[in-house]
Amino acid sequence: MKVIFLGTNGWYDTETGNTTCILIETDDYFVILDAGNGFYKIDQYIRSKKPIYLFLSHFHLDHIIGLHILNKFDFDQGMRIYGQVGTKDILDTIINEPYTVPIAKLPFKVEVHELSEGLHNIPFSVKCKLLIHSSKCMGYRFELDGKIIAYVPDTGICENAIELSENADLLIAECSFKMGQSSVEWPHLNPEDAALIAKSAGAKKLVLLHFDANIYRSLEERIEVQEKMKKVFKNLIVTFDNMDIEI
Ligand SMILES: [Zn+2]
Ligand SMILES: [Zn+2]
Repeated sequence: MKVIFLGTNGWYDTETGNTTCILIETDDYFVILDAGNGFYKIDQYIRSKKPIYLFLSHFHLDHIIGLHILNKFDFDQGMRIYGQVGTKDILDTIINEPYTVPIAKLPFKVEVHELSEGLHNIPFSVKCKLLIHSSKCMGYRFELDGKIIAYVPDTGICENAIELSENADLLIAECSFKMGQSSVEWPHLNPEDAALIAKSAGAKKLVLLHFDANIYRSLEERIEVQEKMKKVFKNLIVTFDNMDIEI
């Protein structure tokens, strides 16, 4: 299974990258995590008719802004979008006039589905849990090709993040803050928090993304985090746009 990091910035685009979007190609599906500005690149990788599933964590624009270019695509297999309860109303507003082409007028079929917290089979297994953030944010745990992938986007450190990551083969976690930084009013993870979640959960590999564009000004600052944090959690890597990994 291949995991491609199409957007690794948090908040806004800079020369370090686009905002958050991840594409996972499994034997049977394409699974996309969030639709920040990196979303426009998905058609460079979606080259077969496998079903496409997009999971949205929350509606801060750095996770959905890419949806305005949905009309660039023409996927024969359509696209199924999943998100927390309330997603249908919000997407009906955002993917609509006067902002962009309405869902019903897109060149391909797009379905929107809502997921409550808990375990679902859609047809692969996905567990959903709400995290701690300034806006309701959903984290996910997938079982794909016999492997567990946990996605812990915008959040402060919390039990649900650990539960989703339990024994995961891959934990994809946000990393808005630098080492030692934190904020009670604006909950996000720093590298130590992400490593603590990975360790507490027994996750095998931790990858970091969603580097706040205003805090991480260069890619070297990401590499510095990786070098320092390797001592704390050996299997930690930082991501860059268009990087891919096999798991
Ligand atoms: Zn964000
Ligand atoms: Zn957010």
